[in-house]
Amino acid sequence: MAAEDVSAAISRAGILRWLEAFAVAVGENKDHLTRLDAAIGDGDHGANLDRGMRAVLLRLPDVAERDIGATLKLMGMSLVSTVGGASGPLYGTLFLRMGDATAGKLALTLEDWTAALRMGVDGVATRGKAHPGDKTMLDALAPAVEALDASQAQGTSIAEALRRSALAAERGAADTIPLVARRGRASYLGERSAGHQDPGATSAFLLLRAAAEGLCRAT
Ligand code: ADP
Ligand code: MG
Repeated sequence: MAAEDVSAAISRAGILRWLEAFAVAVGENKDHLTRLDAAIGDGDHGANLDRGMRAVLLRLPDVAERDIGATLKLMGMSLVSTVGGASGPLYGTLFLRMGDATAGKLALTLEDWTAALRMGVDGVATRGKAHPGDKTMLDALAPAVEALDASQAQGTSIAEALRRSALAAERGAADTIPLVARRGRASYLGERSAGHQDPGATSAFLLLRAAAEGLCRAT
């Protein structure tokens, strides 16, 4: 089956399924994300992202004939202009950088996907001046990139690599619970931010899970 073929490519249709699956997951988890953000922030993360992803879905037809890079850039620009808060520019940076990395491409290999995600995640770290362990979205994103690297080294299929990266992101998000926040609004709480899962790490896990669900299903 194509999805289990080591060399199988991620198609443009796969990228669209990924973005749509993320929009659905954000909609379904809006209240959960809001509750997490209410505990250590200002309770707007679910609503912020849901607004952003609705805007993205409305604009996706504009890039129907364009390459993967153009699609990801549109996603980034839409998020920057509609999400607001800290997470808007940060998710925007993730997708704009991924768009740069995939400019002109109509399909991606596992290597392309890993390189693009790494560029995006590095962009988030630079823009947010954050490191893994600071209790932010990076705590889910960085382990996801590491898992992709490890899968690539082991020669797994794309589908398996994506499953492992989603699992690593899920663990990374859960592992933010005991952490004290050093970046973003939650850092104002100091020690009191410990004991709660970071909302941005949780939405980043949803993003990687959507990738595992949507990216490389046979078209
Ligand atoms: P705001 O904090 O402005 O209300 P959101 O609630 O939408 O924005 O997003 C909060 C999430 O953004 C946090 O849970 C965290 O994961 C992420 N975040 C905040 N600041 C940073 C940063 N400097 N670097 C990386 N991620 C950050
Ligand atoms: Mg917030």
